[in-house]
Amino acid sequence: MADRPVRTRIAPSPTGDPHVGTAYMGLVNMVVARQAGGQFVLRIDDTDRARYRAGSEDAIFAALRWLGLEWDEGPDKGGPRGPYRQSERSALYREHADRLVAAGKAYRCFCSEQRLAEVRKAQEARKETTRYDRACRELPAGEVAARLAAGEPSVVRLAMPTTGETVVHDLLRGPITTPNADLQDQVLLKQDGFPTYHLASCVDDHLMEITHIIRAEEWISSAPIHKVLFDALGFEVPVLCHMPLLRNDDKNKTKISKRKNPTSILYYREAGYLPQGMLNFLGLMGWGGPREADGTQKEVFGLGDMLAAFKLEDIRLGGPVFDLDKLKYINAHHQRLLSSDEYLAQVKAYLFGDERRLRAVADLVHKRTETLGGFLGMADFFLGDVVQRPDLLVPARKPEGEQTPADAAKAAAEEAWLVLADVLDALDKVEPWTAAGLEEAGRTLATPRETGWKSRDLFALLRAAVTGKTATPPLFESMEVLGKPRCLGRLGDALRSIAAQHGEPSKKARERHEKRKKERRQADPGGEAAA
Ligand code: GLU
Repeated sequence: MADRPVRTRIAPSPTGDPHVGTAYMGLVNMVVARQAGGQFVLRIDDTDRARYRAGSEDAIFAALRWLGLEWDEGPDKGGPRGPYRQSERSALYREHADRLVAAGKAYRCFCSEQRLAEVRKAQEARKETTRYDRACRELPAGEVAARLAAGEPSVVRLAMPTTGETVVHDLLRGPITTPNADLQDQVLLKQDGFPTYHLASCVDDHLMEITHIIRAEEWISSAPIHKVLFDALGFEVPVLCHMPLLRNDDKNKTKISKRKNPTSILYYREAGYLPQGMLNFLGLMGWGGPREADGTQKEVFGLGDMLAAFKLEDIRLGGPVFDLDKLKYINAHHQRLLSSDEYLAQVKAYLFGDERRLRAVADLVHKRTETLGGFLGMADFFLGDVVQRPDLLVPARKPEGEQTPADAAKAAAEEAWLVLADVLDALDKVEPWTAAGLEEAGRTLATPRETGWKSRDLFALLRAAVTGKTATPPLFESMEVLGKPRCLGRLGDALRSIAAQHGEPSKKARERHEKRKKERRQADPGGEAAA
């Protein structure tokens, strides 16, 4: 590996909004490539057609570019090892799968979904680990040929070793040993001819001459499978490095999630963070910043400092916490470094840079105000931050039975939090983000099958979270103009604000919430509107 030019990559899947985790991996991969004078590749892993979202790829490009994470080769730029979209590389995956089958390292499997489900059920009943029972692994060649000729659907599975162990070397963790008995015969090629992540990733990392695979910790369980696959294909295994997962700032340090933190990079752009502040913050994750002469670490730094001092080996594995207060503190430093001219230019671009958006805001305010002076009072929540109002988010509730007023308030807060969290999950799936689509989602949420809330109450909660007010231009039109990143970000802010005032819902409250939802669904299988 030493003699090959360093090539790194990120391989995001276009399944939703560009994730802060992608930016984190992008930063580290770009820095490692630049430091070595190598190349940083952007590959789009778009083989999962069910989760594919139109527009997501462009959003990934825009988000990375906003941060200044520029790639050397990628789908929009081309390069010598393209194409860089997996959906355009299907023939390559089939070719490699066929090669493995011909060499006896993979095999055709004809098992139906139904049979696999039965096998799973029987294993569960015996309290065994559920896994494919390898029924097709030893099928005679003649039978396989005949079934293929008859057009029977099949997948290709990797014939994993069944004894011994597989050892992978992780740059940060050293050797990781997995008994082969724990490994499954993974599917490489699906019935539709599309590859799975494992096959596509290994084939591409090899053909794109990637020397360092630096990716998130959640892929670590794939590493032994990839090692077997690289060996079976006769490919050299790249340097493997699994970076620690970004964590929520909660008790259990759970994996970063929308309910606790805005996870879309676009949110941070829309909320007026500076790209240099965001990059600095991501650079701190697991690394801590460049060391000063006295050994302390410098928290505020730029990309140049990181290029000069970063060492992958210095990454600490303890989960770095994505702490929004810290991000604000770091961003404030970078904002103070702007000159007066630069700051003014940034403010103008932030408020008035997008003429189309400004016009949409003006159209909503125009006939609802009496003077030009009234514009800002009505349009404020479109243009800048919203102060969350727990008093508007949590409806007042009278104590029932033995309940004290404090118990009643707590119960109301728990319910508002849980309903709002469901709303956040549901709105995240709205595509495209239009007033009509949002209204439909809102009406669906206000049914017994979903929240069980009346639309009047639900929309008041939504309006409070998204605008911080009780009266605004029409809610769903306003939400369309605000855009998805800001709306979802504010729903998350609202959750945090309720939790800061009343605490997060207890486990019992969460269970009760799910149970009630189930009961309502049973009572209302058709989904009649509650309001
Ligand atoms: N497509 C995977 C993702 O969405 C890539 C994982 C990897 O880097 O191998 O993150």
